[in-house]
Amino acid sequence: MKVAVIGAGASGLMATCAILAKGHQVVVFDGNDKCGKKIYITGKGRCNLTNLCDKQTFLSNVVRGEKFLQSAISRFSPYDTVAFFDKLGLKTKCERGQRVFPVSDKSSDVISALVKGCKGAEFRLNHKVKSVVAKECKFLVDGEEFDRVLVASGGMSYSATGSDGSGYKIAKSFGHKIIDLVPGLVPIETGSKFSSLEGLSLKNVEISVFSNGKKFSQFGEMLFTDRGVSGPIVLTVSSFINRNVPKEMFLDLKPALSEEKLDARLLREFDLNKNKFLKSVMTALLPKRMVDVFLKEADINGDRRVQSITSQERKRILKTLKCFTIPIKKLYPIENAIITSGGVDLQEIDPKTMQSKLQKGLYFIGEILDVDALTGGFNLQIAFATAIAAASDF
Ligand SMILES: Cc1cc2nc3c(=O)[nH]c(=O)nc-3n(C[C@H](O)[C@H](O)[C@H](O)COP(=O)(O)OP(=O)(O)OC[C@H]3O[C@@H](n4cnc5c(N)ncnc54)[C@H](O)[C@@H]3O)c2cc1C
Repeated sequence: MKVAVIGAGASGLMATCAILAKGHQVVVFDGNDKCGKKIYITGKGRCNLTNLCDKQTFLSNVVRGEKFLQSAISRFSPYDTVAFFDKLGLKTKCERGQRVFPVSDKSSDVISALVKGCKGAEFRLNHKVKSVVAKECKFLVDGEEFDRVLVASGGMSYSATGSDGSGYKIAKSFGHKIIDLVPGLVPIETGSKFSSLEGLSLKNVEISVFSNGKKFSQFGEMLFTDRGVSGPIVLTVSSFINRNVPKEMFLDLKPALSEEKLDARLLREFDLNKNKFLKSVMTALLPKRMVDVFLKEADINGDRRVQSITSQERKRILKTLKCFTIPIKKLYPIENAIITSGGVDLQEIDPKTMQSKLQKGLYFIGEILDVDALTGGFNLQIAFATAIAAASDF
């Protein structure tokens, strides 16, 4: 068969390797002059290519499409991904949180390995596919005839990588429904209220948000940006609230301590430092840069001596430490998102083969589908596993 793969990204290249291995002719189109531009920027240039966990853990990190992905992840697991790259000569290592990276720490080596596996395919770079039309039992891709077509054009974030959403138009032209596209794994805009904290990173904190009647909490590290918040726990939370963005989130600055224990700690600090100014005593509990903003939130003047702080005021400090309210204006735009949430409606795709239920011979793989997961290598594994599922049908 003559097969067209639209997109030389993670899923397109993986599918090409697997379809070539079955002896078919493959033509890979990409609008860029190079393959894998998005892979290049993954994992801060190191490419966290998968997560070495079991299927259940994997699926618990999937935000959308958990059921749909069961079959593909069973067939091509994170261990298969590691073995696949090993065969192509790419050595990998497993880091904290079971995240897998190339030993070289270079995403370019992942791209090179994939391209090596695609030996024998015809690459049409600098060719952005505009139209795919079904013609009898064949397809015309920008006028050229093919037996089957795989759309592997990615989502629509970081559009300079070539993933600009043009694949959705192709899907729509075959009558596919596109589930609303919203940003996933994206910073959250809070307005300028905390702009003085820009660049401040907080470790071992917990944020909680309420959305759709559910509470989502994440423990770990966050970062204040010029107009909002980012960092691992914020990115994760954003994926849970992106379809129903609440007005505020709550930051527990001392999640390891219960209110009772924290109050005892405050009493001890205050007792030891009776004559000191409150703002200097608070540096024992908070990063120095945060103290002024914190005391403003607690509505207490930091230039007062600790001995003058009433028990009611101490309770306000306690409450603010456990529940510091951060307003939410909106999520950052999709362009800044690590992943696009939404995409080709999974109801119209066969989960075993990724074939369209509306058009025989047409397949959708990777981020263009309405699937997304948390950080940790899960999204690339989804791209690889859906690609292998499609190739299994050849
Ligand atoms: C900053 C950042 C960091 C990330 N880090 C990680 C990470 O460490 N681990 C992880 O698991 N995931 C990570 N991701 C997510 C991961 O990169 C994507 O989920 C994955 O690349 C999706 O693969 P894909 O094949 O669906 O699409 P892509 O890899 O985006 O590839 C799509 C390709 O299709 C091409 N294309 C689009 N439209 C057309 C057209 N009409 N004609 C021809 N070509 C077209 C594009 O040029 C592009 O090359 C990261 C994402 C970003 C933005």
